Amino acid sequence: MRIKMWGVRGSIPTPGPGTVEFGGNTSCYEVRAGDVLIILDGGTGLRLLGQDLLKQMPFEAWMFFSHVHWDHIQGFPFFTPAFVRGNKIHLHGGINVSRTLEETLAGQMDYPSFPVHLTEMGASMTFRDLYEGEVLTIGERNDVTITNARGNHPNGVYAYRIDHAGKSVTYITDSEHYAIVDPKLKKLAAGTDVLIFDATYTPEEYAGEVGGGPKTGWGHATFAAGCELAKAAGVKQLVLHHHDPSQTDAMVRDKERRARELFPNTMAAREGHVIEL
Ligand SMILES: [Zn+2]
Ligand SMILES: [Zn+2]
Repeated sequence: MRIKMWGVRGSIPTPGPGTVEFGGNTSCYEVRAGDVLIILDGGTGLRLLGQDLLKQMPFEAWMFFSHVHWDHIQGFPFFTPAFVRGNKIHLHGGINVSRTLEETLAGQMDYPSFPVHLTEMGASMTFRDLYEGEVLTIGERNDVTITNARGNHPNGVYAYRIDHAGKSVTYITDSEHYAIVDPKLKKLAAGTDVLIFDATYTPEEYAGEVGGGPKTGWGHATFAAGCELAKAAGVKQLVLHHHDPSQTDAMVRDKERRARELFPNTMAAREGHVIEL
C-alpha cells in the first residue's frame, strides 16, 4: 500500500511563504492498494493529483468523500481527468444531509458559480451514498475492503478505513474529540498501520487561550486527542492532518514535536509526502 499526501490543510487553501513546507492545499490523499487507485476527499489538492494522473490515463478510481464542506470538494471542478472520456470514477459519500453527493458536487458547478456543469464532464462517473457501517469490497479482484464510521462534525462526516493484503490506513478528518475517546472511531482505527487524524488545533487554540475564542462545537480536534486515539486503538503511525489555516510552518512543526512527546511515531502531514507500507 502507498499513501501520497496531496492536500493536508484545513478549511481554506493557504498559499504563501509561511506554508511552503507543509503546504496550503486542502484535503486530498491518494492511496494505492495493490493496483487499485483510491482517492480520499476532493479538496484543492485533488487538482495536483489530477495533473499527475494525466500521465496514467485511462484509469479507474474509487473516490471517498468524508463530507461535502467546501474544503473537501472544491478541487473536483478542477480535476482534469474527470473531463476526459475513458476514465472511470466511482464516487462515494456518506449519507449525512438531505442532498446526495451527486447533487452537492453538481450544485457547486451550477450556473452562475461555475461555467461547466458536472454532466458535461467526460469521464464515466457512478455515485453511491454509503450507510454507516456499510462494508465495501472494491477492485477487480475484490481485494480491497473499505469500512466506515461516523465522526463528530456539523452536518455529519464519515471516517474511512482501507484494508488490503494485511495493511491498512484509516482516515478520520473533521471530527471533534470529546471527553473520552470515541468508541466507534477507536474500533474503526484498531490496529491500523497509519491513522490520518484531524489535528486542526493545539489544546491551547481549542480552549481559546490563543487564536481567538474557544473552538468547542466547531467539529475539529487537537493533536493531543489524536495521540490519545492512536494509543487507545493500538495504531502504528499517526499523521496529523487538517492543519488550521492560521498555522505557519513553524507552528505545525511545533505541533509535530509536541505530539511526538505523547505518541512517538507521529508526523505532521505534508504535501507531497509518501508513506509506503
Ligand atoms: Zn475540513
Ligand atoms: Zn468540515
